[in-house]
Amino acid sequence: MSQQAHYRACHLCEAICGVEIITEGPQIISIKGDLKDPLSRGHICPKAIALQDLHEDPDRIRTPKKRVGDEWQDISWTQAFEEIAERVAHLQLEKGNNAVAVYAGNPNVHNYGNLTHGRVLRKALATRNNFSATSLDQLPHHVMALQMFGHQFMVPVADIDRTQFMLIFGANPIASNGSMMTVPDVKKRLKSIQQRGGEFVVIDPRRSETAELADQHAFIKPGTDAYVLLAMIRLLFEEGLVDTGNLTQELEGLHLIEALVAPFTLSLAEAQSGISEAVIADIARRFANADSAACYGRMGVSVQAYGTLCQWAIQILNILTGNLDAEGGVIVPNSAVGYVQPGEPSPGHLGRFHSRVSQLPEFGGEFPSTVLAEEILTTGEDQVKALFTLAGNPVLSAPNGRRLDEAFAQLDLMVSIDIYINETTRHADYILPPTGPLEHDHYDYAFLRLAVHNTARFNEPVFPKPEGALHDWEILNGLGNAISTKKNIRNSTLPPPDMLMDMALQSGPYSKKAGHPAELSLAVLKANPHGVDLGPLQPALMSRICTQDKKIHLLAPLVESEVSRLFAQASESAVQRFPLSLIGRRHVRSNNSWMHNYHRLVKGKPRWQCLMHPDDLAARGIDCGQKVKISSRVGEIELEVQSSDEMMPGVISVPHGWGHQRKGVVMSIASKQGGQSVNDLTDDEYYDQSTGNSALNGVPVEVSAAV
Ligand code: SF4
Repeated sequence: MSQQAHYRACHLCEAICGVEIITEGPQIISIKGDLKDPLSRGHICPKAIALQDLHEDPDRIRTPKKRVGDEWQDISWTQAFEEIAERVAHLQLEKGNNAVAVYAGNPNVHNYGNLTHGRVLRKALATRNNFSATSLDQLPHHVMALQMFGHQFMVPVADIDRTQFMLIFGANPIASNGSMMTVPDVKKRLKSIQQRGGEFVVIDPRRSETAELADQHAFIKPGTDAYVLLAMIRLLFEEGLVDTGNLTQELEGLHLIEALVAPFTLSLAEAQSGISEAVIADIARRFANADSAACYGRMGVSVQAYGTLCQWAIQILNILTGNLDAEGGVIVPNSAVGYVQPGEPSPGHLGRFHSRVSQLPEFGGEFPSTVLAEEILTTGEDQVKALFTLAGNPVLSAPNGRRLDEAFAQLDLMVSIDIYINETTRHADYILPPTGPLEHDHYDYAFLRLAVHNTARFNEPVFPKPEGALHDWEILNGLGNAISTKKNIRNSTLPPPDMLMDMALQSGPYSKKAGHPAELSLAVLKANPHGVDLGPLQPALMSRICTQDKKIHLLAPLVESEVSRLFAQASESAVQRFPLSLIGRRHVRSNNSWMHNYHRLVKGKPRWQCLMHPDDLAARGIDCGQKVKISSRVGEIELEVQSSDEMMPGVISVPHGWGHQRKGVVMSIASKQGGQSVNDLTDDEYYDQSTGNSALNGVPVEVSAAV
């Protein structure tokens, strides 16, 4: 049997590195970085090698399953669609459409069939109760993009390959390879900034892998980034450092910003954040005076009580220093598909309607996931009685996972499109497994829109579709139409996603129609399996801006109230019962919870321990390596603690996605791992009040020796 080389993206994280996979018949012989990929340039991390584990995993479900008592029974697709459709139609007739909810997890954006065809199922269900992982970690980015630039996907990314100063708040790209910024090979890219005479600075409560390499690292108390950002903005005005460059005539509301940030002095920022006035001022001055600069903030700032305000302030800092839409600053990528410009669908909307119980606003037709449990557990009209999960494990990834666990156990019907029986899908009545990632094609619709260099690549399947299997988009077409038929409503199946991408490519900015020499189409991408290089980021914001008046709106509608709320909070006394602050942490060998079932990734020393500063351990009489009890308002877990001066005193860190030892989970390697779910501590009542985005960082906790 001869060997064959396949070129495609690794879909396991947002970096979408190109990989070369050598196969011999049904066997994978090797997985390496694709040196010819114009974005990742040969880089991969250890997770890519685990694609083989995922493909071969005996725990991966390969046929539809139905729960019968405590057993799982294999059934046909026809039976599955028929029975589910019957039960949904009956339930919605009796209780209304909103009695059914949908939760879409993070892997949906890594499998384009879910993105293109999810609407077939949603049209059939016609429910307001839509939820997704977006409101767990990235809603602030989209809300700010909508309110400032007029489109939720008009998200500027750092021009890391040309910047002279990169300021990073609450992100560890060396472990994550970028998030809301697709940046494979980020370590080399960061080092290149230093090699060309620039610098990068990290502000984080933990001296992370990225902070370790930075020119400067400052510890910050979790949840206080907004004070620092607003003080920096204030200093720019005070010291005459505001220079909005070419965008001056395009800015709406500039004159209001100075007064808005006036109360946020350096001394207030120091008192709140723990970073000295001098350090904050010095960083702000260097940022403003650099030839080019890009400020980027991620989980540490997005996933906290002032996440939306932080993302606003980050963009204001970029704008006031002339670094928005400028080479070496931050630029909205020019993607081949989903190129944001007026007329691009789904610009987004906030607060058109509100959730039933807590009255949190929808965004783009979705409620914040933090209210999913209460929508199931609270009786009344429109109570959620059935749930569809699409590649999601909210029991481990959403706040107060134990409450979700309890809620899912009470549903009348649960259907999961998933490849594992995990902590969430163990509650399902039906599990419908799509083909594995190497068995279907893919275009990185979501992440090429956030990439630090413009490229396009189509990923052909490595292996043929197994007999009897269905792709995710075929399941969504099948389910959607079966339910529509039972409900006697009109719906239609969509053509395969590659056809939809071809249409989009041929009407996009790099098409023949647009007069671009690349003349992109599906055929062109198939003829270029390593991807097509479309060049560096190109400033063109004002030709694409989606606001009605074609201006950049500096004073986004929700900012004033958030600024007032932040200022008022400064005088509130600290919570004494839970004096420590909990943050997450990312490791290069982990991303989503299901990756803990791959032996290549979990081998070696455990990575799920709690990290705590030696002084905090000593103050509690706890030794390194000891088992501790960590308590929060909603729960407690027991975990081994490691002493680490990486941590800021007063802050502890526990990574997410662990805690697989629950009854009914069929993940044989993950279940044998230690660790507990950090989301048994995070709080579904602790969120960004402006959007409802979960606040998973800065959760008040206490640690004591386990008895
Ligand atoms: S950084 Fe690792 S997991 Fe992410 S795409 Fe690249 S190889 Fe895959």
